[in-house]
Amino acid sequence: MFDDLGDLYQQVILDHSKSPRNFLKMRNANRVAHGKNPLCGDQVVMYLLMDGDVIKDISFQGSGCAISKASASLLTDSLKGKDKEQVKRLFDDVHNMVTTGKVNGDDIGKLAVFAGVHKFPARVKCAILPWHAVVAAIEGETEPVSTE
Ligand code: ZN
Repeated sequence: MFDDLGDLYQQVILDHSKSPRNFLKMRNANRVAHGKNPLCGDQVVMYLLMDGDVIKDISFQGSGCAISKASASLLTDSLKGKDKEQVKRLFDDVHNMVTTGKVNGDDIGKLAVFAGVHKFPARVKCAILPWHAVVAAIEGETEPVSTE
């Protein structure tokens, strides 16, 4: 289905969508944000435990396509221990990557598996949905975020 993503990248995305990391409702979260992508039907809830500006713990729940689930899963792996500014910088790098295919930024790491998503414009919103929700959560926004 996503042949153009490349075999290795496709494997990582399928692995994370089938066995998502940090996939649970965090009881002691102090920030929660809902996100939805009506075009694809993806829904995500991000749970954050913030200590000042730093993400101490992060988890998610939701349903949706492989790309949105894998994106949320890899995001939780990548953002633990990062502060607000680092998260926003990474959001910009990821957004840039999934829209242009260019991999830039020091913290991209495993997130580079989503570079191929730029070839599927309809999927860009799936990949970026959990990021919108996380940014809303750290900004303390309480309204659900939508990609539309
Ligand atoms: Zn989707």
